[in-house]
Amino acid sequence: MDLLGCVLELLAPTRCAGCDLPGETLCSACRDALPLIEREGACPRCGAPYGYLVCTECWQSEPAFSATVCVGSLVPPLARCVALYKDSGERRLGPVLGGLLAEAAATWSGWPDAVVPVPASTASLKRRGFDHTRLVAAEVARAFGVSVLEALTVQGARDQRVLGRVERARNVAHVFAVAAGVRVPSRILLVDDVVTTAATVDSASGALLAAGADEVRVGAVARAW
Ligand SMILES: [Zn+2]
Ligand SMILES: [Zn+2]
Repeated sequence: MDLLGCVLELLAPTRCAGCDLPGETLCSACRDALPLIEREGACPRCGAPYGYLVCTECWQSEPAFSATVCVGSLVPPLARCVALYKDSGERRLGPVLGGLLAEAAATWSGWPDAVVPVPASTASLKRRGFDHTRLVAAEVARAFGVSVLEALTVQGARDQRVLGRVERARNVAHVFAVAAGVRVPSRILLVDDVVTTAATVDSASGALLAAGADEVRVGAVARAW
């Protein structure tokens, strides 16, 4: 452990994000208790855990991305991990959650040319002080041996958390753009923290496809609905 790690450990000792047990960021009991979503038990397009068939929403309006893998459902202990990570700033969970996502999406290893994180809005960056999705994406990219490409910029979205489902879908429409001068490769693994309506990742995927990507797949830590 480096000096910074030692100081951090003294100030805020590592505790399990699921059950507060000291010593590990996620203990083995909580790892075993994670509400994993089996690939065969979810919509292959958007990851909604209702069985291995394309869900009604994906039938009704075909999303821009081709497939989704989510580690698990946004219920305890995964929901607690995500909340501690996002809202309490427990950055040590970034690599843990990224590692779980890389495991869940392991069959995609070798597929993407780059991993693109869904960027945080300026407001949430300010609130959290770090880009939580970028850290998760960095771990997935490391596991897959490709680079993180910060291709997307986000403009003007209101805070998602104060909006209802329909409003959310409207709110994210067209707020993502590919940053000027970025060359977007063919196969993109788009990473987000939590997928709820898929509107955010749909919009981000659309921007990447418009900028030259041939296929975008989505990887997320948790699926809420
Ligand atoms: Zn635990
Ligand atoms: Zn679906």
